Amino acid sequence: MSMINGFTSEDATRLSETERRLIERRERLLGPAYRLFYERPLHTVRGEGVWLFDEQGRRYLDAYNNVASIGHCHPQVVEAMYRQSLQLNTHTRYLQEGILDYAEQLLGTFSDDLDRVMFTCTGSEANDLALRIARQYTGGTGVIITRFAYHGVTGDIAELSPSLGPCIVLPEHVRTVRAPDAYRLGADNVASIFAADVRAAIDDMKKHGIRPAAIMLDGIFSSDGVLTGPEGFLAEGIALAQAEGMLYIADEVQPGFARTGLNMWGFTRHDVRPDIVTLGKPMGNGQPIAGIVGRSEVVDHFGKNMRYFNTFGGNPVSCAAGKAVLDVIQQDQLQQRSHDIGKYLLEGLTRLSARHEIIGDVRGAGLFIGIELVTDRSSKRPAAEQARRVVNHMRENGVLISAAGPLENVLKVRPLLTFTTEHADILIEAVDSAMQHAT
Ligand code: PMP
Repeated sequence: MSMINGFTSEDATRLSETERRLIERRERLLGPAYRLFYERPLHTVRGEGVWLFDEQGRRYLDAYNNVASIGHCHPQVVEAMYRQSLQLNTHTRYLQEGILDYAEQLLGTFSDDLDRVMFTCTGSEANDLALRIARQYTGGTGVIITRFAYHGVTGDIAELSPSLGPCIVLPEHVRTVRAPDAYRLGADNVASIFAADVRAAIDDMKKHGIRPAAIMLDGIFSSDGVLTGPEGFLAEGIALAQAEGMLYIADEVQPGFARTGLNMWGFTRHDVRPDIVTLGKPMGNGQPIAGIVGRSEVVDHFGKNMRYFNTFGGNPVSCAAGKAVLDVIQQDQLQQRSHDIGKYLLEGLTRLSARHEIIGDVRGAGLFIGIELVTDRSSKRPAAEQARRVVNHMRENGVLISAAGPLENVLKVRPLLTFTTEHADILIEAVDSAMQHAT
């Protein structure tokens, strides 16, 4: 995962004594692998709804968080976890109803063919499990991913995450394809280019004696630069891979749970039928719960041969949190809100491109929006440095977003699902102001 929007020690001179001490303590205790957002890292002490608060009580509009997706510290989720914590918290080797009630509700949001669920604690674990299931089922090892994918941090999955940086050396059984980038490859070509790349990857695997097992794709291509359309661009390539016996693993860790608008799941925008779907991030609104949903034929093949136990995966408190999240999405009609506010935001941000030459493209699905910055619209030269300045300017003005993409020039805007038009207006104005003063 790229850290375009990252603090470096060169920024330390601008910090207060307290901030410097906190960072030094962090580095001493946690080591160098942990990174901080923003040139002036944010010291958060409290969250409420769409707002985060720093240690001085200043509030920041959260247009980035895809974990506390239905609102920071949502009372209904907190209450559900509290009640369950008072009663019981064990693991999946005892009979309990909570996990089954939640599993039924969760599976109810998928088509009938996706009828099994297994629980993990993180998205990485979910992808890791999905990969194991796919390899068992197909008897193959070969995996296709996109060139700047991010799927997580376990040993096997980090190797499927080239966006972690040059330290990731792709193993022999992995092939990459170009992400379906309509802005750079052309909206009319993107589906066929994607399919041709998948075809070539499969042929190359076979040529090298590697049996294909899975194609794993983040349905919103978040690390590849937030690639949202045209809808359906995956269908041809996925059909081709499945016809070759590969399983399609839809990584819904980013686009899942109403993020992309009316659909609960991002892949449904592309008219494809996953064999396994992986879930995480917003699933428990902050409680670590994740999992896989798959076709019973595939999941059962694995389970018959392999025992599965994940100590914390599917524990009663996590399931209570997960259930409360689904309840809130359903009762507050957050899919509709994601669609409506997402559309309002997209229109507002697109209007800005008439005033700011630097905006090359504005794209989005529901409340997941990418704004691609270029120094010149005809050559599409990436404006990475300007993207970094915009993100930091907005942070100083109390609105939180970040940046992504292989060219480090895509503003990644991912507001909480409970945004109103007033919040959207604050965000649009902050982008406008940052474009004026920071580019
Ligand atoms: N898949 C995608 C698409 C992700 O964005 C992430 C996390 N950023 C993961 C998987 C891994 O999830 P986790 O951090 O919960 O392990």
